[in-house]
Amino acid sequence: MLFVGIDERLSIKDEILLTIRRHVQNGPFRRESGGVLIGRELIEGNLVVVEHMTSPMPRDRRGRHFFDRRDASHVVFYNELNKDECIYAYIGEWHTHPERSPEPSVKDLRNWSRIRGEDFARSVQYHAIAGTYEIGFWAFGPADKQVSLMARRKWGDLGL
Ligand SMILES: [Zn+2]
Repeated sequence: MLFVGIDERLSIKDEILLTIRRHVQNGPFRRESGGVLIGRELIEGNLVVVEHMTSPMPRDRRGRHFFDRRDASHVVFYNELNKDECIYAYIGEWHTHPERSPEPSVKDLRNWSRIRGEDFARSVQYHAIAGTYEIGFWAFGPADKQVSLMARRKWGDLGL
């Protein structure tokens, strides 16, 4: 899936979307899932390719209506990818919502704002929220607390 971000385009690999779709909360007892999105910035074509991600880990805190990424393994995975050559960038977070068409909650916006204040290089993060019917991608930045919906796609239209 391809969409236009802030002064760049993003390409989300099918395997990433397929993994996220597996976590969709399509049953009454399924808890929220989440993790981080990791990609490469291709200067040519101004393209960001999201090709790695993490999935829920044992020490994350999860409930029907919350996901707190607490397990250190997410960061360990990211550092491991960059061990030899530092070519992978932190792109943003993904998590699920038990609703058809996801919208960021007040807590999500607080969380995204906190992440933007951390020492990541990029000035804009892209966060995905996966609902049962659609997935949405929001840009956070470049201005503080600037949130913009970048793309919204029905799972059925993604050709996965
Ligand atoms: Zn949320």
